[in-house]
Amino acid sequence: MYAEIIIPLALPKNYTWMIPASMEEEIAIGMRVEVMLGANKRYAGIVKNISSKAPEAFTPKPILSVLDDAPIVYEHQLALWQWMAEYYMCTEGEVMQAAIPSHLKISSESVFVLNEQQEQDIKNLSDAEYIISEALEIKKTLSLLEIQKLLDKKSVYPVINKLIQKGICYVQENMKDKYSSKVEIFLSLHAQYKNEAALEKLLNEWTRAPKQLDLLLAFLHYEKTEGSVQQKSILEKASATHAQLKALIDKGILVPEKRKIDRLANDISTGNSSIHSLSKKQENALITLKEQLNTKPVGLLHGITGSGKTQIYVALINEVIKENKQALYMLPEIALTAQMIRRLKQYFGGSIAIYHSKFNPNERVEIWNKVKSGEIKIVLGARSALFLPYKNLSLIVIDEEHDPSYKQQEPAPRYQARDTAIYYANQLKAKVVLGSATPSVETYFNAISKKFGYTYLDERFSKGALPKIELVDTKKQPAGTAILTPQLLASISKTIANNKQVILFQNRRGYAPYLICETCGWIPHCEHCDVTLTYHKAKNLLSCHYCGASYPIVNTCKACGKQNFKQKSFGTEQIEEKLNQSLPGVIVARMDLDNVKGKNEHDQLIQKFEQKQIDILVGTQMVVKGLDFENVDLVGIVDADSLLNFNHYRVNERAFQMMEQVSGRAGRRNDNGTVIIQVSQLQHPIIQFVQQHDYFGFYKFEIQNRKHFSYPPFSRLMSLLFKHKENNIAEEAANHFLQTLTPEIQKTVLGPAQPIVNRVRNKYIWELAIKISKQPQELQLAKKQLLHYIRLLQVHPRYKSVNIIIDIDPN
Ligand code: ADP
Ligand code: ZN
Ligand code: ZN
Repeated sequence: MYAEIIIPLALPKNYTWMIPASMEEEIAIGMRVEVMLGANKRYAGIVKNISSKAPEAFTPKPILSVLDDAPIVYEHQLALWQWMAEYYMCTEGEVMQAAIPSHLKISSESVFVLNEQQEQDIKNLSDAEYIISEALEIKKTLSLLEIQKLLDKKSVYPVINKLIQKGICYVQENMKDKYSSKVEIFLSLHAQYKNEAALEKLLNEWTRAPKQLDLLLAFLHYEKTEGSVQQKSILEKASATHAQLKALIDKGILVPEKRKIDRLANDISTGNSSIHSLSKKQENALITLKEQLNTKPVGLLHGITGSGKTQIYVALINEVIKENKQALYMLPEIALTAQMIRRLKQYFGGSIAIYHSKFNPNERVEIWNKVKSGEIKIVLGARSALFLPYKNLSLIVIDEEHDPSYKQQEPAPRYQARDTAIYYANQLKAKVVLGSATPSVETYFNAISKKFGYTYLDERFSKGALPKIELVDTKKQPAGTAILTPQLLASISKTIANNKQVILFQNRRGYAPYLICETCGWIPHCEHCDVTLTYHKAKNLLSCHYCGASYPIVNTCKACGKQNFKQKSFGTEQIEEKLNQSLPGVIVARMDLDNVKGKNEHDQLIQKFEQKQIDILVGTQMVVKGLDFENVDLVGIVDADSLLNFNHYRVNERAFQMMEQVSGRAGRRNDNGTVIIQVSQLQHPIIQFVQQHDYFGFYKFEIQNRKHFSYPPFSRLMSLLFKHKENNIAEEAANHFLQTLTPEIQKTVLGPAQPIVNRVRNKYIWELAIKISKQPQELQLAKKQLLHYIRLLQVHPRYKSVNIIIDIDPN
């Protein structure tokens, strides 16, 4: 017997290995097996197919071992991977890389790290496992090669797999992954003092060390009220030190004990809030949506900001879990999951879990298994949550469906998670609900073409009006007030005086997007990219927002030698500074990539803002999205021109969505919402539509442009990037490639052209943009041809070092 196996690499096809007779019984599709590639590379691959037909061209090598007792993925997942690889023109190995948590991936490049939190129980280890765990104790990390040497065996993955399962080591995916403890220390009273009289005597005769006594009393209190006492939390609650605790332990009064805690344990509480009853309009929308989903695979819930779309999703999800099926709730950004999970936990308690790529690998494996068994019913997550092994998925909610973050940019698979979810749901006979206040042009087009169901919610739940929009002409401001115009400042002061909060949006971080020499016009650029350097004042450096390189501040012009630099334009850091200067005593916080790192910091800031410890939140896109704050009355869009001025067919759509979404954060519970837009192009059609909150006007305007230029949804776009260290080679490769295409396809190609940023990380970029018909057959044919010519280019002596990036349905 032979097995086709997916290994997590970008190989052009899957290879076949031989199944040794001894393994025939234990192997099944969806299990991981250990295989050798080339002379000594080992991978844990996934069995995709089993057949009795031997490959014709060569004799396959045997599979070395079977790693799982049961499949880790369902066959419907493997079918999804295959579709993604075909549609997005990447490999199944790349999809596998994205799809499964690192702990389920083992390869020759893996590094295994001792889990220091775990106490080892030697009795439970086999000889081989014992040898490795001993070596880990000493060296802390081991490479696969080192493990192979230690064991001197042909097959080592089963041993490693067991060690991971037993929690003795973990796979390091990258240096940043920090393992968070699974073991916590709990305290208990020494048996001797469980006797009341003995305890009484101890307390009565206590003379010195009052702090220790305080700690002991606090301990007794919490033990009584909470059952168990965690060392960490009692130290915090009693404001005691480790030394004081140690003294109590040394005296034999308290006993520490390591205990395992289920990482998901906090989640396994039951939801206690009953689901809100819906307003009449919500009720109607729900009924329409459900009716449409009887006949259509996808329904669009178009509801203005604050209309209570979440409440409708909750009602739908509730029906799904009553039938004991699973639901997936997708959000575009990891950052949004934290606020949403707090809302959803109220209803669904422990049957809901969050899943995304920033979770540590152990947690991800736990969730993986619980979704596979069906124990977890609802998953809230970003893109990657689509890849969990659902046992019986029946509903996918895609909230903020218009959001560009649903598209993965780097690395492959460059997939659009919304579109992929729609495909997948179709395969599974599950239903999809897309929700947005500003649906993407494609989605709304599908809705009015009756391909999708459509429901419109035109009223805020609070019945309040949408915020009123004031335009401030930046051309007519006194010098030096372009950032915070007098109107904006006055509104901010008034809002804060009313005890309300403010959000200011500016889509650029840093202090100033560039510096310019006033004498000769020279602008500092990144050495590796064709991009101006952003000035960061607090960090006192210049930074490239494309490759992350940073540089010391330049004072002397490299072109003319003068010291005459001026800062141009402004970013969030400068707005924050200006606010602090203009409004002393007001508490300002900034939310952008520079000062919010990781899901926790983001969530902490959100919570502080929710709790009104912050008056003004200044931020980039991060503040735009789906958050629900009840106390925000004023939103300022500080520089709307920057949203309108770039060269992309989606510029209007993005600008409208961004402004409408950020406006939607204002006045969500009352009638007093105000949005101030600072802009110089007051007559710009998009500004007009935003001012009227007129999605339909915007759509009519935009769909005409799209049709005229035959952009999506009237065609499919595909972008091919040719990257090379040398500009002329990249350009030639793009031209050469173009020449190889058939005349029919050539006609549909734009370019080659250089993108606006034409060099990143020392590679020059040339782009071909291809508009293909949406006819599935034509599309497939075109893709096939393109792939063929790409393969030819990849072996062409002059161009084989050119890096070709294929992006289907690019953002
Ligand atoms: P959207 O996602 O459409 O912008 P949300 O779902 O965030 O709107 O709802 C806006 C606010 O109104 C939320 O705070 C929500 O709790 C409240 N809300 C919406 N519907 C209801 C309802 N049926 N009962 C109680 N509160 C509701
Ligand atoms: Zn100069
Ligand atoms: Zn750079």
